[in-house]
Amino acid sequence: MDFDLTDVQQEYLKSLRQFLRVEIAPNVKAIEDSTEILRSNLEKLAHFGLSSLSFPEEYGGSSADAVTNILAWIELARVCPSTFLSMGASTGLCGYTILKTGNQAQKSKYLKQIGSCKLIGAMAMTEPAAGSDLASIKTRAVKREGGYLLNGSKLYCTNGSIADVVVVLALTGEKRGPHSMSLFILDKDCSGWSSGPALDKLGVRGSPTSALYFDDCFVPEENLLAQEGEGFYRTMECLTFFRIGMACFSLGIAKASLDEAFKYANEREAFGQKIYNFQDVSFKLAESKAEIDAAEMLILAAAAKFQSGADASTEASIAKLFSSEVGKRVADAALQIHGGAGYIKDYRIEQLYRDARLGEIGEGVSEVQRMLIARSLLK
Ligand SMILES: Cc1cc2nc3c(=O)[nH]c(=O)nc-3n(C[C@H](O)[C@H](O)[C@H](O)COP(=O)(O)OP(=O)(O)OC[C@H]3O[C@@H](n4cnc5c(N)ncnc54)[C@H](O)[C@@H]3O)c2cc1C
Repeated sequence: MDFDLTDVQQEYLKSLRQFLRVEIAPNVKAIEDSTEILRSNLEKLAHFGLSSLSFPEEYGGSSADAVTNILAWIELARVCPSTFLSMGASTGLCGYTILKTGNQAQKSKYLKQIGSCKLIGAMAMTEPAAGSDLASIKTRAVKREGGYLLNGSKLYCTNGSIADVVVVLALTGEKRGPHSMSLFILDKDCSGWSSGPALDKLGVRGSPTSALYFDDCFVPEENLLAQEGEGFYRTMECLTFFRIGMACFSLGIAKASLDEAFKYANEREAFGQKIYNFQDVSFKLAESKAEIDAAEMLILAAAAKFQSGADASTEASIAKLFSSEVGKRVADAALQIHGGAGYIKDYRIEQLYRDARLGEIGEGVSEVQRMLIARSLLK
């Protein structure tokens, strides 16, 4: 694997860092209390071209390779995890699923709009009684003339309360289980769906998460993605990309936590010296750096394999599992280095510590990643 960056990639990342520092970083605390800041951030990212970076040019994107895309995502997560999560749900979950499973008409109708943030996307898989065990969903779409009637509910949908377009996984067959599932695009022209209020949560509070309700919601036939009955398997294919994305989320938080801890350790004095001089503090920083570099290598390896077209699902699970735990450990070590200050909202580490926890839950809990990796060993 050769991860030397080209001049073009380096220039892009330099300008991206500058853009994020000026446009996104100043509001990273205030975003927890304002959806308007999130909307404005998403528009800025679209204007910069980050949201549609990996989309093909014909759909308004830049056709960027997976490695460039991944490095850019890590930079965004490092600056604002909430904005990362919402952009990821809109373009990375909803947009990517339409890109991979949609027909020409569906891609033309939605992708440019999502990439330019004229439409905000979401992806609704999880239900109150089906998260890790996605094959147990109950939301059902029943065939009617010209389309389907959708009934049921979804839970923990990122962007749910602000979404214009939602990709929904639902049962279509008589039975329950993977063979009976299909994917649908819901937009504002489909009547009968609504969102609950944004849930009050521990971290990434700037990115709204909510329930979605479908009450005799009519979805026209042309909004069926792929073939009826293929939904579960096509979703599983997309999960590789989603999981690499979630690994970037955690790595970005780990990097930001190390930045904060390094800065604080060189400012704070105790016992007549900078706390950086205490071996325990500098060793925490050294271990964090080693873990961050290891996580980055795993993510890049998964991205490179994904880019080659080979099955990268196990590499994605490994990268996500490891990076999410690194994110939590590094944020924890960084908070400890801050002492009492780390527990106070004035310091950024307090927010990063809360945000980091999602890494081990979203896009499949760590236990599920371990199960998938263990299964791959048997092959
Ligand atoms: C902020 C946030 C945003 C989210 N965004 C989205 C979104 O946009 N779209 C979407 O569809 N979903 C979303 N989710 C849902 C997320 O993907 C699920 O919460 C996650 O997959 C876990 O499902 P669950 O919550 O039902 O937990 P459960 O499946 O009930 O698991 C609970 C616990 O049981 C244990 N467990 C479960 N299965 C196993 C197993 N096989 N082996 C060992 N232990 C196991 C684990 O300890 C696990 O943590 C989001 C969640 C959050 C918190």
